[in-house]
Amino acid sequence: MTDAATRLANVRAEIARACRSARRDPADVTLVAVSKRRSGEEIEALIEAGQRDFGESRVQEAADKWPALRLRFPDVRLHMVGRLQSNKAGHAAELFDVIHSLDRPSLLAALANEEASPPCFVQVNIGVEDQKGGVDLAILADFLESVRASPVELAGLMAIPPSEHEAAPYFALLADLARRHGVAGLSMGMSSDYAQAVMLGATIIRVGSALFED
Ligand SMILES: *Cc1c(COP(=O)(O)O)cnc(C)c1O
Repeated sequence: MTDAATRLANVRAEIARACRSARRDPADVTLVAVSKRRSGEEIEALIEAGQRDFGESRVQEAADKWPALRLRFPDVRLHMVGRLQSNKAGHAAELFDVIHSLDRPSLLAALANEEASPPCFVQVNIGVEDQKGGVDLAILADFLESVRASPVELAGLMAIPPSEHEAAPYFALLADLARRHGVAGLSMGMSSDYAQAVMLGATIIRVGSALFED
C-alpha cells in the first residue's frame, strides 16, 4: 500500500470502530479529506487510494487546484469548510458541491441569489468565541428559519469546538441542537477528535492532518 492508502485505511478503521461502539452504520458517516495547503500530487495519492470527498478552506486556493483534478476525477465532491466572504459566494457556488460555513444573513442572501447554490451546513459558534465564525446560539432558531424559507438547501449544522477545551461536550451540544431543530446532518470532528464526533452522531467529519504527511 502507498503511504496515503495506509493513512486512509487507518482513519477508516477508526471510523468503523467508533461506529461499532455507537451501533451506527459506517455508511452514514462521510469522510471529508481537508486538503488545504496540500499539493495536487498529495491529493491525487488519496484519490488513487479511493477517497472521494475533499475539503478546502479558501475559494482562491480551490480555484487554483481543483478544476484540473476534477477533469481527471469527475466523481470527486468538493466541500467548502472555511470562512466564506459574501462577494465570493458566486465563485464558491461554481466550485463546491457542499458549503459547511453558512453563518450570516448576508452570505445567505448572496447564495440565494445564485442560480444554483450548493446545499449548506449552518455553522454554529458553539463555544461562544468572539473571533470564531458561526451563528450565535441566541439567534440560531431565527437563522435556520430564514434558511428554510430560502432556496438554499439546509444540509445540517457544523461547528468547530474551542481548541483549548475537550471537544465531546460541544459535539453533544451540537447534536442536541440538530435534534431540537429537526436538522439531519452534523458536520463535526477533525483529526484529533473525529472518533468521538462519530460516537456522538457526526454524519460528516473533516479530517486533514491524519490523512496527509506532515
Ligand atoms: C483544517 C480544517 C480541518 C481539518 O483539521 P485537522 O486537524 O488537520 O484534521 C477541519 N475543519 C476545518 C474547518 C478546517 O479548517
